[in-house]
Amino acid sequence: MPIDPARTVAELRELRELTGDEDGAQRVAWTETWERARDWLRTKVASTGAVEEIDEAGNQWFTLAGGGGKALLLGGHIDSVPNGGWLDGCLNVMAAVEVLRRIAEEDAPPVPVRLVNWADEEGARFGRSLFGSSAAAGSMKDQDELAKLADRDGVSLPDAIGRYGVSLDNATEARSQLENAGAYLELHIEQGPVLESLDLPLGVVLGTFGVERSRVTWRGQAAHAGSTPMGRRRDALAGAAKLALEIRAIAREVGDGAVCTSGNVVCRPGIVTSVVETAEQLLDQRHLDADQLARLLALAKAASERFASEENIEVGWERIWNIEPILFDETLIELADEAIREVSGTSHRLPSGPLHDAAEVSRAGVPTVMLFVQSLRGLSHTKLEDTKPEHLELSVAALDNLASKTLAWLSG
Ligand SMILES: [Zn+2]
Repeated sequence: MPIDPARTVAELRELRELTGDEDGAQRVAWTETWERARDWLRTKVASTGAVEEIDEAGNQWFTLAGGGGKALLLGGHIDSVPNGGWLDGCLNVMAAVEVLRRIAEEDAPPVPVRLVNWADEEGARFGRSLFGSSAAAGSMKDQDELAKLADRDGVSLPDAIGRYGVSLDNATEARSQLENAGAYLELHIEQGPVLESLDLPLGVVLGTFGVERSRVTWRGQAAHAGSTPMGRRRDALAGAAKLALEIRAIAREVGDGAVCTSGNVVCRPGIVTSVVETAEQLLDQRHLDADQLARLLALAKAASERFASEENIEVGWERIWNIEPILFDETLIELADEAIREVSGTSHRLPSGPLHDAAEVSRAGVPTVMLFVQSLRGLSHTKLEDTKPEHLELSVAALDNLASKTLAWLSG
């Protein structure tokens, strides 16, 4: 039996009915609605005969037995943000169910095929994204911080996850799940405007952006707005303002998808009658290439020194967070390109701005690739999130095609 992509779209609508309301999807991890979605998923997979297991981090696995080689993993996340969209995360899960059904009806696959529904990708309740996948990848190292987190109602993270049989003490034992993994495939909505602007349904994701986040502190001198001549001012905001505009030119110069954002500036004393004495500016810079990311940062720092001397003020930089770019597997990128071209004619390669579970799996050393399907208006994390049904169906067919190619690669 070939796959039935229209069934996936129908099942996604069914899930929306079951776990959403007039404000959108409500499948926040570690809640009753999330558990209802996991129970529902179990009924959908049942006919394939895949064996279910919930690991130490709360990830839900379904395994179809196969030959002795390393397993093919298909993954997604059924959890959503509050008032979320109907596709983010669960499209991947339901498309993978369809692939599993197809494979289950054929002779036993050459290697085991496993569907994973990652626990708490969104981090919506406790502010910590990629919970289950980072535990399985072995990169979860912030257990002490996690133990202190609480939701808006004061329920602690350890209590909330404990209700689902998960404990921070042994969550990283989920690592054993990736020991025999040969490849990881994830389909996701793009959540951005690129594919729509190119009028393409599907694209191959090259990897996830590296990120540099900095706090830039500008120091001048508070002075009376009426009595201080323009030429005598040491205005901290002038430096921040120049940098906020200069990062556009820097992103253009570095190119290849570089993005820079000055997300906030806090001024002190912050009153209308004083020149600004200190301006604290937050900067976020992203690139897929580690050297180019370093160049983005270096150019911004150099520009800030120039602006500081022009304005007769001081500037200081502090890194607040960073992550290196994560590049997906070259062989799988080629296979994904082929799979998309065969299904829809044209492929496109693009980086991912947001992080995904796939980044964690890739970091753990498992060959990984993602497919993106077009998002209408680039919207996500809102009930307005949408993708044309015909594009959703193409994405299921592309994932299925890629799964076949990957199985051949793993057993070859
Ligand atoms: Zn997602």
